[in-house]
This record gives sequence, C-alpha cells and structure tokens, in this order.
Amino acid sequence: MSRIAYVNGRYLPLRRASVHIEDRGYQFADAVYEVIAVRGGALIDEEPHLKRLHRSLGELRMAAPMGDGALKLVMREVLRRNGIATGSLYLQVSRGSAPRDFPFPARAKPGLVMTARRGSGPSAKLIEEGVGVITIPDIRWGRPDIKSVALLPNALGKQQAKEAGAFEAWQVDRDGNVTEGTSSNAWIVTASGELVTRQADRSILNGVTRIGLLGLLAREGLKLVERPFSVAEAKAAREAFLTSTTNFVLPVVSIDGTPVGNGYPGSVVRRLRQVYEAFVAEQGEAE
Ligand code: PLP
Repeated sequence: MSRIAYVNGRYLPLRRASVHIEDRGYQFADAVYEVIAVRGGALIDEEPHLKRLHRSLGELRMAAPMGDGALKLVMREVLRRNGIATGSLYLQVSRGSAPRDFPFPARAKPGLVMTARRGSGPSAKLIEEGVGVITIPDIRWGRPDIKSVALLPNALGKQQAKEAGAFEAWQVDRDGNVTEGTSSNAWIVTASGELVTRQADRSILNGVTRIGLLGLLAREGLKLVERPFSVAEAKAAREAFLTSTTNFVLPVVSIDGTPVGNGYPGSVVRRLRQVYEAFVAEQGEAE
C-alpha cells in the first residue's frame, strides 16, 4: 500500500508530500512533534501525547494548527488511509513558513504534517535477550524537556551507538549522571531493589511511556525513586531498562560493554514489560 501523508490540509502520496523550503521547522528546527503508538487501531495514550504537544507548543509560544477535535480526526484519517492498525503515527507542528529571519514571523500559519508507519516494535529476540547501551556526553541544548525536532545531538548519539554495536546511547550530564537515551528514558533497579529513574525536570523529555509506567507501579508494590543516577551506579545495578513509545519497556543488559547484573533481563523488567503490554492491549481492545 502506498503511504499517504497529511501536509497542511491535504492527504498526499509520500513522494508528492512536501513543505515549503522556508518552513521554519526546516530552517531553524522551529517545530515540535509527537510519536504515538498504534495498537488494535487505537492511538495509545492519545491524551497524554496531546497534553505534551500542547506543553511543547506553549513553551515555544507556538500556535496549534487546529483544535484537538480536528487533530484527532486527521490522525484517524491518516491511519485509515494507510491501513494501519499496528504501528506508529508521527505528527509535527512547525511555526510555519516565512522569509528567513530569526524573530517569529508576524503572520505565519502553523504547519502540520503527519505520517504513519506499520511496525510492532522490537523483535522477540531483543525483548528476550535485552540490548546494550553506550554512554556519551549530553551535548543537547538546555530544554530537552520540549519535544522539538532539534534532534541533531540525538542523531549523532544514536549513530555512535550503532557504530559501537549498541542499541541506544545514554547521555550523561556534567555531574556524571545519566539524563536519558537519545530516544528513550533510562531506568535502573539498584542492588537494594530500588527502582530509579531521573526526575522529569528540564533535563529530560518526560516520556509518555515513562508516565504510563509510573502509573502502573503502585499495583506492583515496587519502591520508586525519581532521582539522578550515575553511570557507575547504573553499571553496578541489578537491572536496567529503557522506555519509549516505539519500544515500550526494553531490558538493557550491558552498559559500555559492562554486563548489568548477570547480563540477562531481570525479573523486574520482565514483569514491567508484561504489565505495560497489558496496559496497551486494554487500550487497543477498547477501540
Ligand atoms: N527521551 C527522548 C529524548 C525521546 O526522544 C523519547 C522519545 O522519542 C523519549 C525520551 C521517550 O518518550 P516517549 O515515551 O514519549 O516515546
């Protein structure tokens, strides 16, 4: 099936879908985005994603391209036209197109682009065996809590991970603490059994998967602490894992080549993956 994109009011085959060369997303990375998982035809955690989109727009004083009701209709239409029940939806809002100049344009109309793709997430092998991460300095700007398309440091980090044979790169702040992955949040289970993930301040993107999982922890009777953790603490941890829209909950079994725990996914991460999958499946069945 040919892929159909939504671009500023029109549904177009991908090869004909384009934006103006003076779109500020293209010129200045003056744009924000969301990636939403699709399961059973449902947009998983649609409301938290829209909430975060509005937060990103608000922090950048950028207008929404349309109301949420219309946005939801367009999202569903993109899924329908692409025949996607399992996959993900990409949505990007830019400040619009205007002659290139740094200050905000007076009259630009926000740009809206959406695409969708099929895919069911990481392979069974990755889930069973876990993945490796490397650590790299966090060289991003001061507001990675805003989901902007300024992802060059993330792309460089992911490429470095790929070249090292790793799945992800965990970024490290000046104090030696892990902030987050290039496209995922980072978690550990300490030797004393404490579940730790960094607090969602301005240093990380507050992942929708992270938020969803936090809401499920109480039932599991796990003790959670939101605080920074160092690379050394992560390497000495009993378990480690990452969370994201496209990977859900994925075990991390090595950091810079050092095995985490015994080098196999531990019981906590395996349980949390099950719990999260059930949470997603419920939303898919409700559609
Ligand atoms: N951190 C960064 C830098 C990301 O780019 C992403 C997702 O792309 C995440 C965390 C995870 O966020 P979410 O769970 O909303 O996908």
